[in-house]
Amino acid sequence: MQVLEGLSSSLQKALGKLRSKGKLTENDVQEAMREVRLALLAADVNVKVVRDFVARVRERAVGQDVQKSLTPGQQVVKIVYEELTELMGGTQSRIQMAAKPPTVIMLVGLQGAGKTTAIAKLALSFRQHQHRPLLVAADVYRPAAIDQLHVLGRQVEVPVFDMGTSHNPVDIVRNGMQEAERQGADIVLVDTAGRLHIDEGLMTELEDMKAAIQPMEVLLVVDAMTGQDAVHVAETFHERLGVTGIILSKLDGDARGGAALTVRQVTGCPIKYVGLGEKVDGPLEPFHPDRLASRILG
Ligand code: GDP
Repeated sequence: MQVLEGLSSSLQKALGKLRSKGKLTENDVQEAMREVRLALLAADVNVKVVRDFVARVRERAVGQDVQKSLTPGQQVVKIVYEELTELMGGTQSRIQMAAKPPTVIMLVGLQGAGKTTAIAKLALSFRQHQHRPLLVAADVYRPAAIDQLHVLGRQVEVPVFDMGTSHNPVDIVRNGMQEAERQGADIVLVDTAGRLHIDEGLMTELEDMKAAIQPMEVLLVVDAMTGQDAVHVAETFHERLGVTGIILSKLDGDARGGAALTVRQVTGCPIKYVGLGEKVDGPLEPFHPDRLASRILG
């Protein structure tokens, strides 16, 4: 599947000229870095992140220690690959499991980000790996959200606990924990309410839920298609909730890439999964920074 097509083709074009050259002048490197900078900015990568990125690549490329097996051009491409990987977190960051089950995972995010879809995909993946997940429907503001979770739960054959919309979310998650114990569930996935915009009421409620169930993971789902907005959302949620990982949804769409390349650097939160499809059987892949970097560079 092609992801981040625009960014990928403009970076490949910027670096393509270097690949074939036998010898590089400082001018060649400058010119290529100018194009890399423009490609990243066009993909909506944060300006400061771009500036630091290009400076690091340039510094390493100019002072590069010569590896005999690579042409100078190939070396620059390799440096860009390594720096892109580093920018996105370096190595894979996995879900933390509780020493004593159940492992509680709370999913948070704005309405429409892809939270409910992600929770169903996660549930399916856990079930396929011999876990016994339970979904807890704690979005009491949209009755449709509870129905949607039931529909998706049936599709992935994972039980769903709900208490309708007339209880407060803290009571629901507390009861959900008891239900998990009763069923012998080893993973509890909590679907929380989203709003169209971040607001104080939402944040306080999520803080209260977090305090009540002390989750191992607070995973924030952000829509990759919203670029820099996704990064602002992540900063705010992280400040209030201590996000432990990010799920970047809709990377299969026409996302320009800004969020994927910026969010880790700006928030310090690792991207743990990327969503690559709107259906529950569409992939939610564990995020590997090196693989995405090589997909981008072709
Ligand atoms: P929620 O409001 O955060 O729970 O968002 P939903 O899970 O209901 O998703 C909102 C819309 O985005 C739905 O139409 C989903 O099918 C779609 N969606 C969610 N994740 C992805 C994804 O990774 N890729 C694509 N293309 N669409 C997605």
